Amino acid sequence: MDKFEKQCQSCGMPLEEGKKSGSEIDGSLSKMFCVNCYQEGKFTQPDLTLDGMKLVLDNTIGKEGLRGKIIAFLGKMQLPSLKRWKV
Ligand SMILES: [Zn+2]
Repeated sequence: MDKFEKQCQSCGMPLEEGKKSGSEIDGSLSKMFCVNCYQEGKFTQPDLTLDGMKLVLDNTIGKEGLRGKIIAFLGKMQLPSLKRWKV
């Protein structure tokens, strides 16, 4: 059996033991992506680029005070190592 990833392999947010996992087309939990990025077997924003995802982080978690800014900053640094963006 595949292991769950600890963080979403698209946006880098923690998956917290499946609680925030996206869903596959058969309704099972995604092992790799969160519910914001991935639902029913598809990316919610399939055309999103790496730069686009950085903006998403700035415009979501990055707006939640100083702590959010730090999380967004760290998140942006790790994005290129996530499976969705790795080349
Ligand atoms: Zn995600």
